[in-house]
Parts: sequence; structure tokens; C-alpha cells
Amino acid sequence: MLRLLVLGSAAGGGFPQWNSNDAASRRARAKDPAATPRTQSSLAVTCDDRRWVIFNASPDLRQQINDNPALHPKNGVRHSPIAAVVLSNGDVDHIAGLLTLRESHPLAVYATERVLSVLHTNSIFNVLNPEHVERRRMKLNEPFEVCDRKGDGTGIVVEAFAVPGKVALYLEDASAGANFGSQPEDTVGLCISARDNGSQCFYVPGCAALPDELAGRLAGAPLVLFDGTLWRDDEMIVAGTGSKTGRRMGHMSVSGAEGTMAAFENLGVKRKVFVHMNNSNPILLADSPERAAIARAGWEAAHDGMEITL
Ligand SMILES: [Zn+2]
Repeated sequence: MLRLLVLGSAAGGGFPQWNSNDAASRRARAKDPAATPRTQSSLAVTCDDRRWVIFNASPDLRQQINDNPALHPKNGVRHSPIAAVVLSNGDVDHIAGLLTLRESHPLAVYATERVLSVLHTNSIFNVLNPEHVERRRMKLNEPFEVCDRKGDGTGIVVEAFAVPGKVALYLEDASAGANFGSQPEDTVGLCISARDNGSQCFYVPGCAALPDELAGRLAGAPLVLFDGTLWRDDEMIVAGTGSKTGRRMGHMSVSGAEGTMAAFENLGVKRKVFVHMNNSNPILLADSPERAAIARAGWEAAHDGMEITL
């Protein structure tokens, strides 16, 4: 068994974002039922309903834990069912929540060498006392069982693989050319499976393109949770809320001839769910034509608290 719990379904900034005053954000603040607020991107997974692995630790993690009884402390005066954290990249919205997990809780943190070096060079992460929190290197294309701090297996097997992307904004090297010094280990997708029965899904919250090799990996999968950051590449420019295209930020767009819906059309993925949706993306709104369009293409928009069992 593999049980998934979407802790946060929005991209960095969440929905509504703190300084966003567009129509969608105003609807969310007015508690419009078609504009449900969403916290920043994170997924929790368990195989035994006892120990959970968090995929990306968002700045909203404290609220996400409080909102989901499965993650509440269960035993004694200090406890958490969270056994480990797996990081897909070094973006602020994926690592800042680690700071919420201080307070001497035994934890294992898995990331690629590149992302571990980000934690290493930012000394604020030393609040995760190495006596209690072990950082473990995740190698590309090598499946491993996620273990808790003591080394006990969680039953969850993870394989990280490189996806097209971009190094975190605050690490960009403008002198390094068009990709700002990005390397294959900067952004990974994650294949998550259950050791016992082989149930499998893919978690790809950030992805800039779908080359043939990646499409082949995802083809026929029972479930893919995929980067739904933007509806169209220039939507932040058109809305006047930003100067960057989706491509520039390392995200392919949902719509269009080179978009995600088109790229997945013939892949035979059984269940397709958009996660990591930016506050500018109209698929966030339950009554938008864009939401209807993704539904016609067989896609769902994740919501906070969404549960999926495989
Ligand atoms: Zn993100």
C-alpha cells in the first residue's frame, strides 16, 4: 500500500500569495468556494499509516502538520510520525520548512549532493542538530528505501532522476550562460513506490520540459503528480505580476503545443494530477474555463488535504 496526502498544492508563495491582489487572490480571501486557498507545495507518503515521509518541506509545513491529524504527535510528550524528508531541489519553497522541524526530533533528510551542499553552506540549517538529524545523499537513478534516523525502513522506495530545470533563484550564476549554472542534480523527479506490493507513482513538482527519455519513464504510470505552475508561459508578464516566463523559472506550462497536457496526451498515464500551481494559474479556480480544459484532458488539480491510495 502507498498512501499519499497532498499537504500543499500551490507553488512558491501559496494561494493567495501574501502580496497578491489580483481577482483570484481577492476571491480566495473572500472565502469564495471556487477559489480555495492552497499552501505551498508538499506531499506526505506512508506505507504503514504510522511513519510518514515528507517530499519537500514548504514554509507552510507547521500549518500543514496542524491541518492533517495523520501528522500529529501520537505518543508521549514529544513525538512526530514524520520519519524523513526527501528534497527535489533547493528552492526556498521546498527547503524552508526544514527549519520548522528543529527541536531535536530524530529525522533523516535525503537530497542530491548539490542540494545537500545548499544546506551545508547555509548555516541556518544547522538548527537541525546533526545529533538528531542525519543528512543522506540521494544518488540519481539508484532506488533506495527511505529509512528513519535509526535506519529502520519505512517501506517506501524512492528513485530520484534528473529532470530539465533550473538552479534555485538565489543560487543563479549570471556569468554561467543561459542556464545560470544549473546542473542535472539541481532538480529531480521522484519515483515513489511501496516495497511490499510495488505500487508506484511519480512526483515531479518542477520540470522545464519533457524530453523523450523522461516521457518514456512516465509512460503507463498509474499516477503522476506533475508541475502545474503556469497555464501559459507568459502569464505573469501578461498579468503584470512578474517579468519572467515559465521557462525562465524552470517550469513548462500546462497549455499550448509544447505544454504539459499536449506532452502527456499519448503517454497512457492512468491518473494525472497537477501540483505546485502558481497563484496566477487559472486552473486554481474551480469555475474557470481552464479548469474545465484540464478536466477534458484527463487532469485533476490537486487540493490541500487530497488523499490518494495506491
Ligand atoms: Zn517550488
